[in-house]
Amino acid sequence: MNTIPYKTYLEENEVPECWYNMRADMKKKPAPLLIPATGKPCTAEDLAPVFCEELIRQELDETTPLIKIPKPIRDFYRMFRPSPLIRAYFLEEALGTPAKIYYKFEGNNTSGSHKLNSAVAQAYYAKAQGLKGVTTETGAGQWGTALSMACAFFKLDCHVYMVKCSYEQKPFRREVMRTYGADVTPSPSMTTDVGRLINAEHPGTTGSLGCAISEAVEAAVKTPGYRYVLGSVLNQVLLHQSIIGLEARAAFKKLGVKPDVIIGCAGGGSNLGGLIAPFMGEKLRGEADYRIIAVEPASCPSFTRGVYAYDYCDTGRICPLAKMYTIGADFIPSPSHAGGLRFHGMSSTLSELYDQKLMEAVSVKQTDVFAAAQQFARTEGILPAPESSHAIRATIDEALRCKAEGREETILFGLTGTGYFDMKAYEAFNDGTMSDYEPTEEDLARSFAKLPKI
Ligand SMILES: *Cc1c(COP(=O)(O)O)cnc(C)c1O
Repeated sequence: MNTIPYKTYLEENEVPECWYNMRADMKKKPAPLLIPATGKPCTAEDLAPVFCEELIRQELDETTPLIKIPKPIRDFYRMFRPSPLIRAYFLEEALGTPAKIYYKFEGNNTSGSHKLNSAVAQAYYAKAQGLKGVTTETGAGQWGTALSMACAFFKLDCHVYMVKCSYEQKPFRREVMRTYGADVTPSPSMTTDVGRLINAEHPGTTGSLGCAISEAVEAAVKTPGYRYVLGSVLNQVLLHQSIIGLEARAAFKKLGVKPDVIIGCAGGGSNLGGLIAPFMGEKLRGEADYRIIAVEPASCPSFTRGVYAYDYCDTGRICPLAKMYTIGADFIPSPSHAGGLRFHGMSSTLSELYDQKLMEAVSVKQTDVFAAAQQFARTEGILPAPESSHAIRATIDEALRCKAEGREETILFGLTGTGYFDMKAYEAFNDGTMSDYEPTEEDLARSFAKLPKI
């Protein structure tokens, strides 16, 4: 019956050789990073003590559409890419929808998520610059794991500041990182000035992503031969993640199919920015149109309830200011189970596209997300990450809308990873003890009042 296969892989000669930089096709560009002290746009020299040279070039490049992927990175990609484009026939059947659902699965590597796509690029450029090592932060642990794998491959030291509550709650993630040779420090620690300060001000704190970022940046700047790397939010990360969308578009071309709706979960925006990149490019150039939907947790609603403003990226306020949809750097989201979606802000590029109404956003509640995760696991077989399950929720909702309206739309969503390290969350859902938390208007107003005045 099925004329279209369940899984579509690309042949060796169909694999993209360049990343695609969406900013090159944007008429109004994303706002630049600013230096907090002067309010002036960051230059390459300003960023040089913190980031690798080539990554700074990519960060600031708004004009080059295609950037060649160096051969050593392409060779590494061959260990786990191209990732399959999968038709969700069983989910479609369970929903009784006329919609055609496809997903691009990025969980088929040991780190379990799309983050390895950028980790390997960042580790490669650090090594090429002759550096000794890199520092970073990790919240839920996926980024730290991906970076540890990439650093082991390119023989770089890797120092990960892991948000303390995750360090304690996810010992297996920690051990995977150590197995790949990384040093893992619970944050806030007593090994940095900013860590000591935060510990003194908030005794017993279990940490936050913003705080771990401050520690990792300080450690990089103070250690000779080290730089800092980040797993989301930045333009360079969206660039590397464009491999997801480029492969998806090539696979669709092969099938003779065009998606109508493209859906992805959004934490800092890197997987979504990567998945939509070539499609958004067509949209920006007026060649095609797509509905694009970002899905975020109701507990951390940067797009749907945030403001578009310059904000701090980290708690210690040592990073540049970024203009983005934000709920405020001081906002501490409730301890939701989608750790990878808990950043207070959103990629500047996606923020600008959203502001120009080139994409939409929805927020979804945690228990509804896990109900979707469970349905997906039982029909399609893959145990999805809680983060990815936000996209599954929105996809199911869109497929049910298609059913109600009798429309045969084609939906593509990003299945960013697997959920094997998130069984505590599944346990809470299975036991019926999971809660839904949404910030009140007052919570958000308090946080907005602390935004920097630019
Ligand atoms: C980190 C992560 C995300 C969210 O990060 P983005 O930068 O918004 O893509 C989503 N899914 C998984 C599995 C992750 O690890």
